[in-house]
Amino acid sequence: MADTVAKFALDDASVVVIVGTGSGGGVLANELAQKGVKVVALEAGGRYLPDDYINDEWDSFAQLSWGDMRTTSGDWRVARDFANLPAWIVKAVGGTSIHWAGASLRFQEHEFKALSTYGPVDGANLLDWPITLAEMEPYYDRAEKKLGVTRTNDLPGLPGNTNYLVLEKGAKAAGYTKVSTGHMAINSVENDDRMACQQTGFCFQGCKWGAKWSAAYTDIPRGEATGNLEVRDHCHATRIEHDETGKVTGVRYIDKDGAEQFQQARIVSVAGNAIESPRLLLASASERFPTGWPTARGRSGATICAIPPARSMRSSKSPYICGAARPWRGSCKTRPITAPIAALSAATSWKPCRSASPSWRRSWIRAVGGASSPRRSTATRIWPACGSWERICRRKPTASH
Ligand SMILES: Cc1cc2nc3c(=O)[nH]c(=O)nc-3n(C[C@H](O)[C@H](O)[C@H](O)COP(=O)(O)OP(=O)(O)OC[C@H]3O[C@@H](n4cnc5c(N)ncnc54)[C@H](O)[C@@H]3O)c2cc1C
Ligand code: SF4
Repeated sequence: MADTVAKFALDDASVVVIVGTGSGGGVLANELAQKGVKVVALEAGGRYLPDDYINDEWDSFAQLSWGDMRTTSGDWRVARDFANLPAWIVKAVGGTSIHWAGASLRFQEHEFKALSTYGPVDGANLLDWPITLAEMEPYYDRAEKKLGVTRTNDLPGLPGNTNYLVLEKGAKAAGYTKVSTGHMAINSVENDDRMACQQTGFCFQGCKWGAKWSAAYTDIPRGEATGNLEVRDHCHATRIEHDETGKVTGVRYIDKDGAEQFQQARIVSVAGNAIESPRLLLASASERFPTGWPTARGRSGATICAIPPARSMRSSKSPYICGAARPWRGSCKTRPITAPIAALSAATSWKPCRSASPSWRRSWIRAVGGASSPRRSTATRIWPACGSWERICRRKPTASH
């Protein structure tokens, strides 16, 4: 962090206040700061950088996710099986850009015209976007350059991990011809003062190498270095205030000591992700705006557009692999790899486990450093392919694995 880090007074009404420092707020804060605009960014979470990230799914979840209690109701599966499970969005400086996968796709022409393309959907308020792909293209160009998206601006694609190799083989066998590792905001080569991907596979836990783009270690420190951006971490915005004309005057928040503060502002930008942004807008209801801050024609929080992920699970009785193929590097293109691991990778990528030979199973056991346990247990071992620490789950197979 630069010596020039800004500190603005609570009664400085000339600042822009941004709530949230993730993909939206973090980038906006830097872009404004670079142009000389004074910005106070309020962030509910703490500050974690690559050295702090934890290469363990559950410990990382506890470190980064928005764990504040939510309620879940209804009879749908999430309410039944995972009541009150926190949403895996990040509460930290850098927001969910620490956790995201990095897939950086452009909308296609028809996706800007959802209503015209698909027709009305009962219970939803599907609309066509009031913008077109052509209007967005210059901004996509800039974003791809900024994020270092592979297969744009002469950046090469990423090599495939074991999951990808399985998928590629299946897709090609099914007749698909355009199969690749796609457009990812993950460095395939050194770029933007960040190193190339090391294929360790813990992208969702925060990239310890900084190869994946995140606002946490790009836009935020660059914005702070201008002297125009003050990031206040552990500061939770609770209410946006306005004057008698309805114009915004500032934001109330709870600071890291639990005290309520009020930061004056000339503009407020709400960038708290899909759940927290509408919550803040609704919580800012006033006599003038009784149903909450007047955006989205009074429909704040009424609907959500989620991305249903497609997941392919291999049905396997293997005691050695938990779930689908693990995301470790499956080929030996850039670094030495030991023979047992190479054998294992080949076997796990392209053969069903139950047909794998006893010899590669022995190789796997040697590679992970012990026999499989019938109980759920975990062991941390050096993964010889990349020399990094990995956590290997050795769980007795169940029908769902
Ligand atoms: C598992 C996963 C994988 C993903 N992969 C991809 C992908 O491959 N490609 C893609 O395009 N998108 C992906 N996304 C989606 C992408 O990460 C989000 O769309 C994006 O980060 C949203 O940006 P945002 O700024 O709205 O919110 P965030 O990045 O979540 O930032 C919101 C910030 O606001 C803070 N905040 C919230 N409320 C308050 C408050 N009241 N006061 C103060 N601070 C507050 C939060 O702590 C957080 O830091 C993924 C998301 C998930 C969960
Ligand atoms: S270095 Fe590891 S964590 Fe970072 S992007 Fe590559 S695979 Fe993901």
